[in-house]
Amino acid sequence: MRRLTIAAALIAAGCQPPVSDYTNAREACWAEVERWHPGRWADEAARLIGAGCAEALGATIGMDWESFGFTPQTLQDSPTGALVLVGLLDLLADEQDSAQDVWNDPDLPQFVYEELSRAQVAPDAPRAELMFAMIRASLFVSDYADAIPGQPKGAAAYYEQEHRGTFTPLMLQWGPELSGFDPPASAAGAIVHEAAHRIYGGHVPCSHDPEQDCDLSREGAYGMHIWTLAGWITRYGSDYTVSMCSAVYGELITRCGDQIDGEDKLEWAPCLVECP
Ligand SMILES: [Zn+2]
Repeated sequence: MRRLTIAAALIAAGCQPPVSDYTNAREACWAEVERWHPGRWADEAARLIGAGCAEALGATIGMDWESFGFTPQTLQDSPTGALVLVGLLDLLADEQDSAQDVWNDPDLPQFVYEELSRAQVAPDAPRAELMFAMIRASLFVSDYADAIPGQPKGAAAYYEQEHRGTFTPLMLQWGPELSGFDPPASAAGAIVHEAAHRIYGGHVPCSHDPEQDCDLSREGAYGMHIWTLAGWITRYGSDYTVSMCSAVYGELITRCGDQIDGEDKLEWAPCLVECP
């Protein structure tokens, strides 16, 4: 009886265990996850996201709605911001495998494996919960770079607040016209890429073109990007249209070819994936 009283007092005092971003977003987006289909292009997928779900997804990355030029109620005002949200929804709805399946994946880059193996996520939790734990740990800050909020030429830049001084902040750009033709998996790959920067730091200049960013092996943000794209083709390629699968595949192959310097990729399964 006494223990119950103490528990009741703790709950009244607001001492419940913290609700994870995954749990919060999964609750707020249950209807979106029910309706979700991996084969929808980004513009169609964005139209199905309600305000409550948008807000919960945005909270996961600390989305700065104002600098994106829209609000949770007005997703269509910012194709760039909407693309970020459909990427997050894809990650949230990806429940095909468990956290244990991710830990067992021999193709998962090693440093990320070490990081994820410490995550406070149950082995039988869905893959999505583990990926959300990784994204949340990176705590994005989103804002516009070289752009006027609300203007269609805007480009989004993501950088990690706490690590801002340790590596080049600009990591990601999306043109506004991409939204309508982009697979949400592309956005999911970019989000995971940005989250992986906390683990890997920045890129190095490519040997074939010093103006471009590369990683020296699969151990880097591009490696995680590629691993994410390959996973979408493996798990959901059969739900894709031919054109969507070739869009994801095209991005995968380009990143394998152009952004991993060295021979590592030649024998790495994610770079050898093909559409069904
Ligand atoms: Zn990067």
